[in-house]
Amino acid sequence: MLPAHQRVWTNRNLRMATIEAVGFDMDHTLALYNSATFEQLCFELAIDNLINVKGYPEEIRSISYDRKAVARGLIIDKRHGNIIKVDTHGYVARVRHGGKLLSREERRKYYKRGRIRLSPKRYRVVDTLFDLPEGSLYTELVTLKDSQPKLLKVSFRVLFDDIRNSIDTIHRDGSLKETIVAEIPKYFKRDDLLSKTLDKFRSAGKKLFLLTNSDYSYTCAVMNFILSSKTKNWEEYFDLVVCSAQKPGYFLESGKGTKINGSKCNCFSGGDAFFLESKVGSLGDQILYFGDHTYGDILRSKKSVGWRTAMIVPEVETEVLAAEPVSRSIRALEETQAMIEELSLEKDHLLEIGEDTVEIQQQIESSLSRRAVLRKRIASIYNPYWGSIFREGRVPSRFGGQIRDVACIYTSRVSNLSHYSAHKFFASVVEQMPHE
Ligand code: IMP
Ligand code: MG
Repeated sequence: MLPAHQRVWTNRNLRMATIEAVGFDMDHTLALYNSATFEQLCFELAIDNLINVKGYPEEIRSISYDRKAVARGLIIDKRHGNIIKVDTHGYVARVRHGGKLLSREERRKYYKRGRIRLSPKRYRVVDTLFDLPEGSLYTELVTLKDSQPKLLKVSFRVLFDDIRNSIDTIHRDGSLKETIVAEIPKYFKRDDLLSKTLDKFRSAGKKLFLLTNSDYSYTCAVMNFILSSKTKNWEEYFDLVVCSAQKPGYFLESGKGTKINGSKCNCFSGGDAFFLESKVGSLGDQILYFGDHTYGDILRSKKSVGWRTAMIVPEVETEVLAAEPVSRSIRALEETQAMIEELSLEKDHLLEIGEDTVEIQQQIESSLSRRAVLRKRIASIYNPYWGSIFREGRVPSRFGGQIRDVACIYTSRVSNLSHYSAHKFFASVVEQMPHE
C-alpha cells in the first residue's frame, strides 16, 4: 500500500477521466521552497526594512526566528498582540501573547464569548506559507515590546501593520527575489518525480497550464531550476503559462492578458479566468487546479468559476510522518474515549436506580488517567504551542475544516499524483452522522 504521506486524500468525488485541463500554481505548489532557509531570509530582510525604513531600533536584531511560533490557519489579533487557534466551529482554543501561552481564564478575558468574528480590520489569517515569517516576527516583537515598552512605543496594531508592510515591500521591491534568484538551489527543492507527473497527465491527453502570481522573470528562474533538463525546457511542459495573474482577482474580475514576447510557448501576463478558459479550450469543472492558498487558489477558483480543486498541503507529509511512531496510541485513545463514554452512561444508570457506583467510578478514573497519558504522548509529536494544524481536540481546526470544505482532493506535493492513474476516480469516504 502507498505510504500515507504519499497519498492523495479525497473530500469530494473526482473523476480524472472527465478532467480535460490541469493547472498549477507555482510558489509552494509546483515549486517547493526549502522552508527554513526561505523563512529565515524573509525574517532578516523584514527586520532590515523595519530598521532602515521605519526607524525601528537596532535592538530588534536581537530576536531570532522561531519556526514553531506560527502555523497555517492561525489568526493574528492585532488589537491585543495575540495569535489564536480556533477550531472549525470558530471557538478560540489556544492563544499566545508573544511567547506566552494563555490559560483558559486569560483567554476568556480577551474573548468573552469564546469565539471570534473575523473582521479583516482586527484580524489577519495566516493563510499561506509566505505568511509564516511575519507571524514569528510579530510574536518575538510583542515579547520584546512587553519586556521593554520604552524600546517599542507603537501599539500592537501598528506593530503588526509595520511588519506586514515590510514583508509586503520585500516581496514587491525585488530584494527578496534578487537574493533567492542568486542562489536558487539554496531556496528550492528539486523533486525528480515532478516531470514524470506532468508527462503522465500530458500522455493521458490533458492540457496543462501554469497560473501564478509571480512575474515572468522570477517564474523562469524558479521553473528552470525545478523542471528544466538537458533535453527539455520547462515551458514545453505547458500548453499555456500565465504569470502576474493577481489571484484571487483573476477569478473575480475581468482583466486583459498580454502576450509575453520572447517566451518559448503560449505565455501571458495577467488576464482573467475566462480568458484562460478560452485559450485552454475547457471550462468550469473540466479544469482541475492545484494550489496551496486556501482562499486565493482553492476557494476562489472553486466558488467563482467552478473549477475542481486540488490543494497542496506540505504539512500533511510532516504530520503524517511524525505521527507514525504514535499510531497505536492514537487508536488506543479512541478506544479509551469510547470506553469512558460507555462507563459514564452506565454510572448514570446505576445512580438512577440507586445502585452502588464505587466500582464503576474506579474504572472511570483509571480510564481517565490512561487517556491523560495517551494524550500527552500524542501531543509530544506536534507543535508544542499549537498541536496539530489540522485538528483541535476532537474536531478539525479551522484550517482542517477549510481544507475539508474547499479542496476536492488534497495531498502534500504534486508529484504524489505520479503514483495514481491519470484517469483515476478519486472517491470520497462516505460521510457518516454520529448515529449512523
Ligand atoms: P502564487 O504564485 O500565487 O503562489 O504567488 C506567489 C507570489 O506572491 C510570489 O511571487 C510571492 O513573492 C508573492 N507574494 C507572497 N506574499 C506576498 C506579499 O505579502 N506581498 C506581495 N507579494 C507577495
Ligand atoms: Mg502559491
